[in-house]
Amino acid sequence: MLIGGHWVDSASGRRLTSSDPYNGTPWVSFPDADRSDVDSAVASARRAFTQWRKTTGAERAVIMRELARLIEQNIEELAVAESIDNGKLLREMRGQVAALPDYYTYFAGLAETSRGSSILPEKSNFVVYTRNDPVGVVAAITAWNSPLLLLTWKLAPALAAGCTFIAKPSEHASASTVLFARLAEQAGLPPGVLNVITGAADTGRALTAHPGVNKIAFTGSTRTGQQIMRVAADRLARVTLELGGKSPNIIFDDADLEGAINGAVSGIFAAGGQTCMAGSRLFVQQDLVGDVTDALVERARSLVIGDPLAAQTELGPLAFTGQLEKVLGYVQTGRAEGARLLVGGRRPDRADLLDGLFVEPTVFGDVANHHRIAQEEIFGPVASIISFATEDEVVDMANDNAYGLAAAVWTTDGGRAHRVAAALDAGTVWINAYRTVSPAVPLGGFKSSGIGRENGHEALASYTETKAVWTELSGISRDPFQLG
Ligand code: NAD
Repeated sequence: MLIGGHWVDSASGRRLTSSDPYNGTPWVSFPDADRSDVDSAVASARRAFTQWRKTTGAERAVIMRELARLIEQNIEELAVAESIDNGKLLREMRGQVAALPDYYTYFAGLAETSRGSSILPEKSNFVVYTRNDPVGVVAAITAWNSPLLLLTWKLAPALAAGCTFIAKPSEHASASTVLFARLAEQAGLPPGVLNVITGAADTGRALTAHPGVNKIAFTGSTRTGQQIMRVAADRLARVTLELGGKSPNIIFDDADLEGAINGAVSGIFAAGGQTCMAGSRLFVQQDLVGDVTDALVERARSLVIGDPLAAQTELGPLAFTGQLEKVLGYVQTGRAEGARLLVGGRRPDRADLLDGLFVEPTVFGDVANHHRIAQEEIFGPVASIISFATEDEVVDMANDNAYGLAAAVWTTDGGRAHRVAAALDAGTVWINAYRTVSPAVPLGGFKSSGIGRENGHEALASYTETKAVWTELSGISRDPFQLG
């Protein structure tokens, strides 16, 4: 762990182990931080904050650009660590890591150009300006599915704002965050500005309850997000929560079919469906249901399942045993509810895959919107096809869900595309596209998918406190008993 510029073990000496989900072999162990380690990390971040908050945006931008350069030189090492840790395809993790430098350079630009405002209020004897002060010490707690991308969505704006930072990666995928911290040191981040502690839920709990933490930036399940918000409420710590999803992917009958099928595959089979924005509810207008179902089943049958590090692989294992059990459990639930299992739904019986946590790509037909497989986040390669008749009906069904992270609309009718985009309860709507993100574009959830936005100007604002500074111009002495 990196605390205050020192590489340290946990005070207790206890360690946790992470296994490679492709072959079940333990491949890395790391310290299991307890309350005293959390105390040290918070103390170090608080100390560093006293100096880091005084740096200018331009000074911080220099370090962030250097960090971007170092990431670029180490893409392969970071991506391989992520792929072994969480079982997602190397080509997916490589793409994610290769995108990270853009985030640090984008937020470096915002750090350099960040501005307050000057206000001339109706009281002519005052002039007012605002400052965007850093919120303070940030604790970032992240999920295992995209470790460095989720970290970067928090760290880049936090550094730009002048905050100091404690990262707690998931116990299922901590390796890349530790490797990354070495690059941050090399880039010239002063000791204590970025601290990394490792551990599981108890470590997360100690961190979120710590009075020295001003803001909690969390990505993970909705249940954990709710717990964190309760803890944060006791001291009114700031929170941003990026939580689960059950995103509708809507294909109208005038869609470009090839593009829509490709989008359906990208929505649910890319990343093995282990992505918050998975397009797990595939709404198809009734005339196209047969064609879309046949094409998706065919693609599911032909996906190359195997070693996530191999270039040709299209579907890797699930990340850990709990995930495997959860996904197989939902397959049972779907069948019991009366949905039709069209393909997949079991572990492949190939000899070379027996040690891995694989589930075949799965498609359910005849799914009703009230079925649990259409309402709850499965986080695996399981598509539910739901038929609809009209635009109004599909909007109602799409919104009839607790989540509101993302959605997609496939149509060649521009008016319809934007009407539906406006009507959907979702933080992101893609039109004729799926699963694309950018440092400049806000990302986050409606409803149970979260609070706040990552990326874009809104993300930077969420790491600052606005301060209004009033200056009296006239020099006269006022009635002290009257609100001026
Ligand atoms: P999780 O909630 O189990 O764990 C996430 C992190 O929280 C881990 O680091 C864990 O150690 C920590 N943690 C667990 N309990 C805690 C507690 N009580 N207090 C503090 N920390 C605690 O989630 P997961 O299984 O790692 O991740 C999968 C979930 O993440 C899915 O629901 C997925 O949709 C969501 N996710 C959301 C986004 C997004 O941007 N909205 C992105 C990726 C993943």
